[in-house]
Amino acid sequence: MEYKHFSHEHNLRLHQVQPGQQLRCSGCESYCYESVYACWQCNFFLHEHCGNANRYVKHPCHALHPLILIPRPTYTGGSFFCDACGAPGTSFSYCCALCEVDLHVPCAFLPPTATHASHPHELSLSHNLPTQKISPDACKLCNQLLDPKHWTYDCLICDFRVHTFCATREVKPGLYQDDDEPTTTQLPQSGPKENDFEVSGERPEGEATEDPIVQLYKLQVEMEMANQLAQMMASFNLSSLV
Ligand SMILES: [Zn+2]
Ligand SMILES: [Zn+2]
Ligand SMILES: [Zn+2]
Ligand SMILES: [Zn+2]
Ligand SMILES: [Zn+2]
Ligand SMILES: [Zn+2]
Repeated sequence: MEYKHFSHEHNLRLHQVQPGQQLRCSGCESYCYESVYACWQCNFFLHEHCGNANRYVKHPCHALHPLILIPRPTYTGGSFFCDACGAPGTSFSYCCALCEVDLHVPCAFLPPTATHASHPHELSLSHNLPTQKISPDACKLCNQLLDPKHWTYDCLICDFRVHTFCATREVKPGLYQDDDEPTTTQLPQSGPKENDFEVSGERPEGEATEDPIVQLYKLQVEMEMANQLAQMMASFNLSSLV
C-alpha cells in the first residue's frame, strides 16, 4: 500500500524497521523504530506518528493561533529553536510564523502528564508561559539549569522540576488529540484515491478548495517574506550610503 505525504514528492511505503537497521526520521531527525513510511530512492523516512501528524494543531502553549506543520523552517539559516526543549531543528516543526513559535513534532505531542521511575508522584507538563514567574532552578534528573523559557515537567506536590527530555527519554510521543474540531485525513492512500477520482469525477483531496488554515499559513509566510524583503532593502539602502 502506498501513501502520499505533503512533504515528499514520491509515494511512501510502510516498512518494518529490522533490528540493527538505522533509519533516521526526516520529520524529527531521530532514529526510527517499529514501522516507518519510507521512500527508498531518496532515503526518506518518517515515523508513523510523524507521518500522521496533523497539518495544524490548536496547542495549549499558544492559544492565540493554530500551529502549522511545516516541512522546513522558513527562517534564514534553515533552522529553528524549539520552544519546548530549546534544541535546534532543521526539519518538521509546528510553527506560528507570526509569533515565531516553533516546536519539534515530538515536543508538540508531549503528554500532559508523565511519570518517572525516580519520582513517586505524577509530573505535569508546564509550558512556562511568559506570565509565569519561575526562579532559575536545576533539573532534578540531570542537574543542568532549567531555562525558564522552556517547558518542564513539574511535580505539583513537591519541589521537583525536570527537563521534558529528561522526563520522557523512554516515552514515545502520542498523537495530540484536537478534541473539538474534525481533523483532516492524513496520508490518503494514493492508489484508491486515483480510482475514486476516475470513477466519481470528484477532485482528489489534495486539489480540493484550500483549507482556511492553509490560506492562513500562506499569509503568514507571505508576511514573513515581506519582512525579510524589507530588512534586505533596509540593509541595501544603508550600504549604498557608505
Ligand atoms: Zn519522526
Ligand atoms: Zn522520494
Ligand atoms: Zn523540542
Ligand atoms: Zn501566534
Ligand atoms: Zn534535565
Ligand atoms: Zn513529588
